[in-house]
Amino acid sequence: MYQFRAAQRDSATELLKALIRIDTSNPPGNVAPAMELLRSRFESQGIAATLVGENSEQINLVAKIEATPENSKHRPLILSCHLDVVPADAEVWTHPPFSAHDDGTCIWGRGAIDMKGFAAMAAITFEALAEKKEQLDRDVIFVAVCDEEAGTNRGSKWLVENHPDLLGSDPEYVINEVGGFTVHRKGRRFYPVQVAEKGVAWLRLTVKGTPGHSSLPGQDNAAANLSRAVLAIDNTPLPWHPGEEAARLIDGFAAPEGSLAQKVASFFLSPTFGPLLLKLLVNEPSRRAALEAVLRNTATPTRLNAGKVINVVPGSASADIDGRLAPGQTAEDLVRELEDVLLKIPGLRFEIEILETSPPVSFSKETPLYEAIEGAISKGDAESHVVPSIIQGFTDSKNYATLGATCYGFYPLQMPEDLDFASLFHGNNERIPIEGFHWGCEVLTTMLSSFLCSEQ
Ligand SMILES: [Zn+2]
Repeated sequence: MYQFRAAQRDSATELLKALIRIDTSNPPGNVAPAMELLRSRFESQGIAATLVGENSEQINLVAKIEATPENSKHRPLILSCHLDVVPADAEVWTHPPFSAHDDGTCIWGRGAIDMKGFAAMAAITFEALAEKKEQLDRDVIFVAVCDEEAGTNRGSKWLVENHPDLLGSDPEYVINEVGGFTVHRKGRRFYPVQVAEKGVAWLRLTVKGTPGHSSLPGQDNAAANLSRAVLAIDNTPLPWHPGEEAARLIDGFAAPEGSLAQKVASFFLSPTFGPLLLKLLVNEPSRRAALEAVLRNTATPTRLNAGKVINVVPGSASADIDGRLAPGQTAEDLVRELEDVLLKIPGLRFEIEILETSPPVSFSKETPLYEAIEGAISKGDAESHVVPSIIQGFTDSKNYATLGATCYGFYPLQMPEDLDFASLFHGNNERIPIEGFHWGCEVLTTMLSSFLCSEQ
């Protein structure tokens, strides 16, 4: 079994701080200095790393530790992180977002949670595995990508399409965000491990009107028609599509409370009772929204476009809609659901175009790696409850899935009860608890050392 050393803890903390101090806000998404930092760090330890990308600022790093030919028995495992971050408005932060302020309890900064914390953790683990190279039963690949926060086109999607060879061509496993962090509920500690993510359907709704002079009342105004359409979409809950992914998540959180709680929780899955029950039983709005989002498709209008000048009634107006797909659903299914909503508006002339889509992804939890993850969390926290989860958003895993890899969101992080992982993700005052981060470094390193190394 691997023994995590104090020096490695300090090294992980220092690496995290150095990564936070490099502003990799996306847009514009320049991650080159952060990638260079990792490359020189790995190379100083004798680990070769390759930098590749579509342009000189949005680049990706791939480093590989090769198993010896006699020990190599399995397809590769990838540790993946993204180094771009969402922008931060320094005005509303307690400490400057790229200062990596250390208050003795937390390290503050944009990316501390999403996901430079894991980047540092995975780098330390990767270096520890390099020391045990002779015992590895497969190649281990460290991947740091750009552009995750803007859709992955220059990051993991580009890598998968242009350099699958660097990713081992047919990796067996990918470990990535989002999962492995503590969720506190009624005095219990849960650790969701991500095994599925919803799909994406970015849509454009265009609504028609009749152009005219805006000095006259009561006209067929596309801007007003669009407002009606957007309000209808915002006010109408779409139909329930409970899949096994949502069922396992809901059951996992209810299980410690016993069979009656599990029975009641199973009614959340019912298209008839679920919506009502959710309103009655889940009071906290963000929790209710999170749960509802895994049970159905969602469609959120985000960008509106109508009219060119102030004194002409627009003949056309459009809304861009961020649609997210429940497992088993397609962009076409969501378009049909939205058409049903819009056809109820008398006289509305509209069309919906699919701008971009990627399907929901789901991975089996019946694997030796999932078992090892469960074991590592239980060992790190004896009172834990591990739950296979589905996330409402997407990660780089959607792209790695196309290579046939089983991808898990496992970013072990012990969160104290007063710090909520979900609200720190993209939130103001993003920060990571130092103790929980060190706990994660140890859990990940120990788990992978025993999973990948044959005893010698
Ligand atoms: Zn992320």
